[in-house]
Amino acid sequence: MDLFSNVTKVIVRESISYQLSFKFKYMAQSNFSPETQMLGYGYKPELSEGAVKCPIFQTSTFVFKSAEEGKAFFEMAHGKPGHEGEVMGLIYSRINNPDMEILEERLKLWDEGEAAAAFSSGMSAIATSLVTYLSPGDVLLYSNPLYGGTHKFVHHILTHFGVEVIGFRAGQDLNEVEQILVESGHAKKLKMIYVETPANPTNDLIDIEMCSAIAKKFSTPDRKVLVTVDNTYMGPLWQHPLKHGADIVLYSATKYIGGHSDVIAGAAVGSKEIIGKIKKSRTFFGTMIDPHTSWLLMRSLETLKIRMEAAAINAEKVADYLSHHPKVEKVYYLGYTAKNNPEQVSIFTKQYLSNGAMLSFDIIGGEKEAFTFLNNLKHIKLAVSLGGTESLAEHPASMTHSDVPYEEKQELHITDKLVRLSIGIENYKDIIWDIEQALEKVKMPVIEMVM
Ligand SMILES: *Cc1c(COP(=O)(O)O)cnc(C)c1O
Repeated sequence: MDLFSNVTKVIVRESISYQLSFKFKYMAQSNFSPETQMLGYGYKPELSEGAVKCPIFQTSTFVFKSAEEGKAFFEMAHGKPGHEGEVMGLIYSRINNPDMEILEERLKLWDEGEAAAAFSSGMSAIATSLVTYLSPGDVLLYSNPLYGGTHKFVHHILTHFGVEVIGFRAGQDLNEVEQILVESGHAKKLKMIYVETPANPTNDLIDIEMCSAIAKKFSTPDRKVLVTVDNTYMGPLWQHPLKHGADIVLYSATKYIGGHSDVIAGAAVGSKEIIGKIKKSRTFFGTMIDPHTSWLLMRSLETLKIRMEAAAINAEKVADYLSHHPKVEKVYYLGYTAKNNPEQVSIFTKQYLSNGAMLSFDIIGGEKEAFTFLNNLKHIKLAVSLGGTESLAEHPASMTHSDVPYEEKQELHITDKLVRLSIGIENYKDIIWDIEQALEKVKMPVIEMVM
């Protein structure tokens, strides 16, 4: 007996039944924009005493109306025939919970995916999705640089289970990436291409359509190569990877989606089939999101668009300020990165809807000057993470990317003089004031003149 697939049926029937009754009521409004849908989509007040907002279903398990109903649910769960037209109910919060399901209904709308799965963290979304699709002997082709946690997961855990991992660099073209794959001697075992674009912290862009073309080329009828994109940096507003051929979009919902630096959560978006399979393993890994965090994220989603837009407007002002500052050597901001090189321009034009709100800059000097700047900030918090309402600053070389080998860091421009900023929704004048006064404290290194 395949317990896995039967439990999934329970989930699928539950959400289908939810959507069907919902559809009749709101059919005429189905083409509303995501920001409008975030206020109520998927929630039926009549099921919750008329509460205008979805309550927190802080419960581990759900009561059956009768022993007969419980028996019927379990028969349906085990796929026994004779339950045509009967509606499956809620069972247990590791499998299904109204907050988690309604959150998922809303999350999928931004990327126009068929389905979404919510997780306890970005890392659990990444780990669960990758382990669902990768088996010992498979090859994972990934882009460098990766988020530190993902880098560790790929190199220490996937390899431990016999997955072969091969990296390429943002900026390499189709031929170069294919060559890396072919030269590895394992191209036939390619199962997934995993991409982070824009690359953190330098904002280099990767062409998702290029990855999709490679995936198609190495797919066989019984072995589809999947393209997975970690869209945390630009999503879900400013980049929609599914439209460019990606199969799975992953999020750390801790960042823009949560947006207030007060939750850890994650998500995966894609087709019903792909997300269905990921949800099956989520049930047995236990990496699902909890009801309270689901509720907090529903609240966050209502302001997602205005928060992200406000941050992007601020980021442009900060980038302009920094690019004219005599103590700043170079600014890494999508608005500039995309202008420098024609290939990056073409990727930017087709793939991005904004310059985003993340930027980095090289301060003139090294670690000493970067640290003086960071230590003298008065408003901007010295902290890792990103995408929150408040601006944050950090030093990638010694913090988020401290584990990356020295040579690789140099190649990726993650040097001691690099500072990363996540721009928030403050009045931009206050952010610039803070940067200005902290830069004033930085003494320029004495340059020795060679006579
Ligand atoms: C933060 C982050 C993650 C990990 O997410 P958690 O919610 O911290 O588990 C993964 N990818 C990127 C790009 C991130 O910024």
